[in-house]
Amino acid sequence: MNPVDARPLIESAARRVITHAEELTRLDQAIGDGDHGLNMKRGFEAVLAELDQLDSADDVAVLAAVGKTLVMKVGGASGPLYGTLFLQFGKGWPSAASAPSAASLHTCFEGAVQAVAARGKSQPGQKTMLDVLFPVVALTATGASCGAVRAEAQRAAQATIPMEAIRGRASFLKERSIGHMDPGARSSQLMIEAVCDALEKRE
Ligand code: ADP
Ligand code: MG
Repeated sequence: MNPVDARPLIESAARRVITHAEELTRLDQAIGDGDHGLNMKRGFEAVLAELDQLDSADDVAVLAAVGKTLVMKVGGASGPLYGTLFLQFGKGWPSAASAPSAASLHTCFEGAVQAVAARGKSQPGQKTMLDVLFPVVALTATGASCGAVRAEAQRAAQATIPMEAIRGRASFLKERSIGHMDPGARSSQLMIEAVCDALEKRE
């Protein structure tokens, strides 16, 4: 396997989130306070600006810097959670010296998603980003194709529509949170799709 360069994956995810900011805002207006799109746009614009500055940094340093920036710039509940995701990616990322295997990338992804669950004191089934992240991690354990990963991310985001929110602001609405897609589940789906697109491009 060729070494996986984290930078184009991050760039692809950042651009995708930024172009879908209005959609994320609409989703958060339905069951939250309507700031998810703007929060994510602000954070990922800062990430893109930062990538330009980090020309000579290795992937581990880039992922750590991106995580820090997301914690500082996104805000809300999702900032610390997505920040944790990227910080933990940085900690688990296969070192440049060793050829990364699909298994080592899966382990890295799994550790990052577990760290988000610990930070959010949350688990799948509560109508959050975890309802997309967990099933996609499970699928990558078996070395799934990008097509299968995209389909699973889409299915999982749709599956948050009939759920009742148990975590985050949407949980204040109790059963009135039913019938809307979770904004964080959608932003996770978008990032996963964008990473798949970037991975396919390098093949
Ligand atoms: P806020 O809710 O503070 O306005 P955002 O609107 O940016 O923050 O993000 C909301 C999203 O964050 C939700 O749609 C949900 O996916 C996610 N989220 C909120 N709380 C948690 C939690 N405890 N664990 C996992 N994800 C969470
Ligand atoms: Mg919000």
